[in-house]
Formats: sequence, C-alpha cells, structure tokens
Amino acid sequence: MEIEIATVGGYEEVGRQMTAVRAGDDVVVFDMGLNLSQVLIHDDVRTEQMHSLDLIDMGAIPDDRVMSELEGDVKAIVPTHGHLDHIGAISKLAHRYNAPIVATPFTLALVEQEVDDESKFTVDNDLVEMEAGETMSIGSSGQVELEFVNVTHSVIDAINPVLHTPEGAVVYGLDKRMDHTPVIGDPIDMERFREIGREGNGVLAYIEDCTNAGKKGRTPSESVAREHLKDVMQSIEDYDGGIVATTFSSHIARVKSLVEFAKDIGRQPVLLGRSMEKYSGTAERLNFVEFPDDLGMYGHRKSVDRTFKRIMKEGKENFLPIVTGHQGEPRAMLTRMGRGETPYELDEGDKVIFSARVIPEPTNEGQRYQSERLLRMQGARIYDEIHVSGHLREEGHFEMLQALQPEHVIPAHQDLKGFSPYVDLCESQGYELGRDLHVTRNGNLIQLVE
Ligand SMILES: [Zn+2]
Repeated sequence: MEIEIATVGGYEEVGRQMTAVRAGDDVVVFDMGLNLSQVLIHDDVRTEQMHSLDLIDMGAIPDDRVMSELEGDVKAIVPTHGHLDHIGAISKLAHRYNAPIVATPFTLALVEQEVDDESKFTVDNDLVEMEAGETMSIGSSGQVELEFVNVTHSVIDAINPVLHTPEGAVVYGLDKRMDHTPVIGDPIDMERFREIGREGNGVLAYIEDCTNAGKKGRTPSESVAREHLKDVMQSIEDYDGGIVATTFSSHIARVKSLVEFAKDIGRQPVLLGRSMEKYSGTAERLNFVEFPDDLGMYGHRKSVDRTFKRIMKEGKENFLPIVTGHQGEPRAMLTRMGRGETPYELDEGDKVIFSARVIPEPTNEGQRYQSERLLRMQGARIYDEIHVSGHLREEGHFEMLQALQPEHVIPAHQDLKGFSPYVDLCESQGYELGRDLHVTRNGNLIQLVE
C-alpha cells in the first residue's frame, strides 16, 4: 500500500499545525491549527470574519493547497488536543473536506465552540467523539485503522493518534510530556506505545514535536508544578491584602490546583476573563473536574467589573481572583488591572502569581515585560514561572524513539533551528538525514512507500 505524508503546516514555525497521511486511497488529516502570533501582530484583525486565503497569506493558518496533490480522499480530520495551534484553523478549512472531525470529548467541545464563533464559513462536518484507547476503521479497504493513545500535555484529554496500515503504523506525536503523575486524567500510556513498536510491521513513521528537544533531561510532572504552587501560596497565607493569580485558561489541571490552594489559605477563588470562563466551564460541564459549588466564573466585562467591585467592598484579603493575562496580552484581565482599568486596586505589597512561563517570542516577551512593569509600579510583588512545560525534553524524546523504534522520523512543531537538536539526537541513534530522517518545510510531500 502506498504511504505518503503531506507536511502542510507547522514545519517552519510553532503554530498552524497540519499534517496529512495517505494510506492507499484514504487520507487522514492530523490537526488544523492557527499561528496566533501572526494574527496578534496586527492590532485590528478579527479572524472570525476573514477568508481562508487571506489568513493563509498572513501565515496564520496552514496553506492546504498541497492537499490537491495527494491522490486520495480525506476520511477524517483529527485534532489531537484543544490548543489553538492545533484546532484554530478548523473553522476556516474543515468545510473544504467531506470528512468527519474525530476527537476526544474535551477537544471536540472546544472545536464545536470554534465552529460556532465562526461567521464567514459554515462548518457542518460531522463531529465524532472517540476516547483514548479506542479505534476506528478508516475507508473501505478494511486495512487501515485509527487509534487514539492517551498522552499527557498542558491541556486535558490529549491523545496521540496512530494510523495503522499494512506497511506499519504512522504515529503522530504532537504534543505531549511524559507524565506519570498528572493532576487530572490518566498517565501517558507508554505501555501501548511500546506494544505498537513491537507488533505487526512496527512503526513505519513517527512525526515528532520538537518544541523542547534542545533541553536536557526530562520535563517534570504537573504534580511538581502543583507542589511548587502550593509552597508559594502557603508562604503568603498570612498576607492580609490582595493576591491575584494567572495561568493558561486551557490548563484545567493548573486552574484546579489554584482553586484548591485558594480555599486552603482561606480565600474565595473566582475565575475572571472570557477564556477562563470558556475552558473551565467546558471542563466542568463534561465532568473532567469538580469545582466547589460557590466558584464564580465570569467572562463578560460587566460581570467581571461587578465582581471586582464586590471584592473591593468585601475585602481583597478574602479572595483570590484567577485571571487571564499570563503573557501580558493587551486586552487580558491582568493587563487591564496593571493599567488601572478595573475596579480592583492594587496596593503596595500585593502579590501577583504567574503560574506560567513567557512563551519565548518577541511579541510575548515585550507585552509581558510591559504588563509586569505596570504591576510593579503599583507596588505588586511578582511570583514568576510556577510552571512545567507540556512538551518532551531530550530524554523524553530518547525514550519515545526507544519505545517505538520507528523506521522513519519526521521532526515537526518547530522551525529549522528548532529541529536541529532533535536531528542530532536521531543521528546519534543511527538515523540519517535524507534517508530515514526527513527534515522538511511546509507544503511538501514525503512518499514513504511507493
Ligand atoms: Zn499543545
């Protein structure tokens, strides 16, 4: 059976991930993501109303025109997890394919919301739920099967999809960390990866997320970040002024820890900001997390401001607002607080907890610097980098190669510079550039089996 891979997007950047795998006549698309930094760099862009081709020209969504060179029909669109660089282009591209969107329940709920918010295109592809550990037959040959393997990442319900073909398995390895003690959900299913490496014809190809390949050692578990956070929050337990925390809204495990520790130090947690309400509300509705009954979640400007007024009236020392703005995003809640645009007044000595790391990108770094300066000018004390990454480091990558023993390796989720540490690792394991190690760019085809 012919096996061909189209590296559509995310092979020259972190963002706008999209890869297609053709097995005979059947094609499966993995991820359709957005490169948010290409959107945010323009001040006034509202993507909901924009046409796909304009967004492609901006470099914001994958240029999927290479798909016409693949001789087969798309049978499924498979987003791996709910981050925007993996699902953010579905509302702009999925309608061009007559195929269902297959994802885990949390990811699918987020896809549904993306599609509902879209005002230019009508995406009416079927939405099909599939859980980690389940499989689905692809096409009519009876020889191709899609499987979801449970992985751990900085968002819940993440999987690595595997396409089983008569020529071997194609494992799509974006995005994960090897977490054996996650705060929500099951540990990464390494046992299944090892089985896939051994069974049948083994692994034909492994497409890997190179984000942290240049970092030594292994990425710590989410439970390490949780302990770090606990330590910080207990250390300020006796402070009788304002404490404010921020983290990635989609990071439900972290939000859960913040909510629990707020209660532990005698404060009422409250989630503020549109995306805080969206992600945590969805996770709670789908029973991924159980929040206290009295946990408030407010997204709209008016209800947020009303909550801030109430906090000021009842005493800042009784509350822990958990807000958006960990990257210093100009319109996010924490940035507005820094600019003094909300009814919440910061006093000398008030604490601000960043349970996040700055995404190393000039726009983020600049905005975050500005936001932090504004907070410090009002006397805030800053607790930074209470965080662990969601991506594998060098030893995690080594372990994955050991487990899967792939015949071919395709580095992804980075630019050329970002690929190089992973290329070094693969070469040290006997892979050869151009033979079985395929460094590529956006919009290319790699024929693995003719
Ligand atoms: Zn991700």
